[in-house]
Parts: sequence; structure tokens; C-alpha cells
Amino acid sequence: KQEELKKFHGKETVTADGKKLELFCNIGTPKDAKKAIECDGEGIGLFRSEFLFMNNTHLPNEDEQFEAYKEAVTTMGGKAVIIRTLDIGGDKDIPYLNLEKEDNPFLGYRAVRYCLANPDTYKIQLRAIIRASAFGKVKIMLPLVTTVDEVRNVKAMVEDIKKDLDAQGIDYDKDIEVGCMIETASASLIADKLAKESDFFSIGTNDLTQYTMSVDRGNPKVAYLYSAFQPSVLRSIKNIISAGNAAGIPVGMCGEAAADPLMIPLLIAFGLDEYSVNPVLVLTARCIISKWSVEEAKALADKVMELDTEKEIVDLLKASAKD
Ligand code: PEP
Ligand code: MG
Repeated sequence: KQEELKKFHGKETVTADGKKLELFCNIGTPKDAKKAIECDGEGIGLFRSEFLFMNNTHLPNEDEQFEAYKEAVTTMGGKAVIIRTLDIGGDKDIPYLNLEKEDNPFLGYRAVRYCLANPDTYKIQLRAIIRASAFGKVKIMLPLVTTVDEVRNVKAMVEDIKKDLDAQGIDYDKDIEVGCMIETASASLIADKLAKESDFFSIGTNDLTQYTMSVDRGNPKVAYLYSAFQPSVLRSIKNIISAGNAAGIPVGMCGEAAADPLMIPLLIAFGLDEYSVNPVLVLTARCIISKWSVEEAKALADKVMELDTEKEIVDLLKASAKD
């Protein structure tokens, strides 16, 4: 098995009928970028920037952040690095921010909501990311988007920062892209509108499942409902990809489902462009993608989307799996 996987090292990611896809990695620290390269990742689809804030006693300043982003970007040597801006709140607490306890932290003051309410903190991060774009291919990704306004507001901040950098003669990529994580029910339902404002999408199935199923992703008592194979979550994923495709923007997935052997044929069928996975799963995912043609995947997906329950869906996918 390990031997078979090794054959995929250094190869492109293509379906059985030759459709070229992108296989990126999820990382949590700049050091992990080395692992992504060793594991033959084609880019970084999710750089979780929280580590800089969580393993710290104070807010990291612009230069500290810049150095961390630059390290990941230079390690990737021109391959895309999608940096997700601060995704705190919910289960991720940062003690020195002294955030108030909330009754419903997953529905509360978190991620892009916190960032837009604290523009001084957010600007420092955006500036550090934009400066790092002078050293490779950087993209900015917004977590937990629920409205078009959020995207417009962040983009306005990005434009202001670019003007400041121009005035100061500091180098950056003028075409730096800004994209959305689609991981809430709201974002999924207005994916066509968000697509007009975004350079790319990345589907966060970990949260999309939580917010679609109304099930706390960490609560074992309701874990039986927490599955990306629920018909509602699959419909959501399909609609998001269709909206991105229709608008002509690339659609990726950086939730755990992107590496799930049972999910991969459905994602091929729906038209997903970029799969972002834990570095150790790159070759496995590439191997599974190579076994499916788009046509075969579509035939399976058509049957799956007719089914009514998660169990029926998983059973059919298991029975159809290619060893
Ligand atoms: C997700 O929600 O699917 C995701 C990739 O982000 P996180 O797991 O960090 O919330
Ligand atoms: Mg998430």
C-alpha cells in the first residue's frame, strides 16, 4: 500500500480521465510548510493563523506576524499560500484578549466578526499578510463569513492598506486575492452573491456540518448527527461548488471531508477544483482521485443525491469505493 502511494509522489493530481485538480495542504505553523513540501503538496489551502495568537502572551505585532507568514511563503517557493485571518472564538480562546464568556460562543463574537469589530488588531494582521505577498503567491481567506457586507468591509480595509504601502514604498502583490471560507448556512445560501465579491471559495466542512446540522462539533452526545454525508450537508456542498463554478472562481475545500476517500468521488462530480488536506494525506488523496473519472463520479453522485439518509449514502459510497 505504502509502495503504491509512493508512485504518486512528484505526479500531477488528475482524475482517471485526465481532469487536472489541485491538491493543497492545511498547516498550522510556518514550519509545517516544510512538511507540505516533503509530502508533495501543491500549495497551502489553509494556513491557520491562530497559532501565532494562541501560543503567545500578547498580540503578535506586525513584524512578528510578517516573519511567520514570510517563512511559510518562501518555503513554498512560489506555490500558493492561502492565509486564513484570525479565526478565534467558539472553541478557540485567547486569554490575553479577555473576551467575555458567552452563552453560545459558536454563534457569537468570533472570527471575521471579531476582526471587523477590532479593526486596529485586524489591520496589523492584514498588513503583515499583504507584505508577505512580495515573497510568493499569497491569498487572504476570511473565516466564518455570513454576509456580503463582511467581505466588502474587509476588501475596503485591504485597499486602504495597499494605498498606505504604496505611499511608504513597500512592496506587495498588487493582485493579491481575497476569498471566503464557506462554512456557515448563510454563506452557503448566498454563495452566488458572495462569489461576485470573492476571488475564490474554500469550503470548511468542519463548521459547515456544525452550522447546517445545528450540532456542536465537539459534543459527543450529538456526534451521530455530525456528518458531512448528511443529505443536507451534501446539498449545501454541491450548491456552493455550483455557485463558484458559475461565477468562474475556483472552489476549494479545506475541511476534513476533502481527504475522505468516500467523499472524493462526490467532490469530483460536483466540480471541486482544489482539495486541501493534512500533509500526510496528500498521496492517499491523489491516489483516490486518480481512480475516478468525472463521468463515473457523476453517475455515483446522481444516485447518492437521491438517497434520504446518511446511512444509505455512506453504505452506497462504501459499496462503490475503489479499494
Ligand atoms: C472548517 O471549519 O472546516 C475548517 C477548515 O476550519 P476549522 O476546522 O479551523 O474551523
Ligand atoms: Mg472553520
